[in-house]
Amino acid sequence: KASRQRLNHERYVEGQDEQHLRQLALIRDLQEAVNNNELWMAYQPKVDTRTGEVCQFEALMRWRHPTLGFVPPDEFIGLAERSGNIAMLSQWMLGHVCQQIHLWKAQGQHLSVAINLSASDVTDTALPERLNKLFSHYNLTPDQLALEVTESDVMHDVDAATETLLALSQLGLKISVDDYGTGYSSLAQIKRLPVDELKIDKSFVLKLDTQEEDLTIVRSTIEMGHNLDLKIVAEGVENSASAELLSRLHCDYLQGYWIAKPMPADAVTAWLTGFKP
Ligand code: C2E
Ligand code: CA
Ligand code: CA
Ligand code: CA
Repeated sequence: KASRQRLNHERYVEGQDEQHLRQLALIRDLQEAVNNNELWMAYQPKVDTRTGEVCQFEALMRWRHPTLGFVPPDEFIGLAERSGNIAMLSQWMLGHVCQQIHLWKAQGQHLSVAINLSASDVTDTALPERLNKLFSHYNLTPDQLALEVTESDVMHDVDAATETLLALSQLGLKISVDDYGTGYSSLAQIKRLPVDELKIDKSFVLKLDTQEEDLTIVRSTIEMGHNLDLKIVAEGVENSASAELLSRLHCDYLQGYWIAKPMPADAVTAWLTGFKP
C-alpha cells in the first residue's frame, strides 16, 4: 500500500512538473507568437433579440503554437497577465482588430466589434489616448468598437479603473460588464461605473432551458439591469429553447453556439451573407 501511495504521489508530482514546464514554455514563447503571426482573432456574432439582426461581433484571441498546437485563451491570457506579457498581447490585439474593422469597411461592411480588456488594460490610463490614435489612423467611428471588462478586474483597483473607463466612455465607446454574476459586487456598485451593458455569464445561460434556478437568476438580472438603464446580453446560448426564453424575458442581445461559433475574420462576410434573421 505504501508503495502504491508513493507511486500515486510520484505520478502527481510528475503531472505537476509537466504542467509547470508547459507553462514556462508558453510564457517563453509568447513574444515569438506575436512576431511569427501565430496569433489571430476569431469573431463571434451577437444578435439583437428584437430585430433578429447581427448587431456586433466579439473578438476572441487564438494561438496556434508551432509544437503544442492550439492553446486555449483561458490558459495563455492568464499566463500573460501573471508574467507581465499581457500589455504586449493587448497592444497587438487592439491594432489588429482596428485594422480588421477598417478592412471590412473597405469591403462595404460597417461592423462593430467588442474586445476583451484584461485587468492591466482597465487600469492603464494611457489606453484611451492609444485607442484614440488608432481610431484616427484607421478612420473608425466610436460605435465600431466596444469594450468588455470583468467585474473582478474593475473592482481590483476601482479608482484607476473608473478613471480609464470614464475616459473611454467619453470617447464614445460602450462598456460591457463581462461574466456578470460570477463576482461579488452589487449592481449598485456597478452602476457607479460608466457601464452600458451587462453580459450574463454563460454558466447561468447554458442550461437555462432545464434549470429552474438559472431561469430565476437570469430573469431578475434582466429586470434589475433594465431598471438601471443597462442593456443585457446573454452569452452561451446553445439552443432555440434558451433563445426563446431569453427573448420572452426581454434580454436585449444573444450570443452563443446556437447563432454561431467564433469564426476567422475572412469567414465573417460570407457568414453574414448567409445569415437570415
Ligand atoms: P469570455 O470573454 O467570457 O468569452 C466567452 C467564451 O465563451 C469564449 O471562449 C467563447 O468562445 C465561448 N462561447 C461562446 N459561445 C458559447 C456557447 O454557446 N457555449 C459555450 N460552451 N461556450 C461559448 P474562448 O474564446 O475560449 O475565450 C475564453 C476567455 O479568454 C474569454 O472569456 C476571455 O476572458 C479570454 N479572452 C479571449 N480573447 C481575449 C483577448 O483578446 N483579450 C483578453 N484580455 N482576454 C481574452
Ligand atoms: Ca467577453
Ligand atoms: Ca463571459
Ligand atoms: Ca471570461
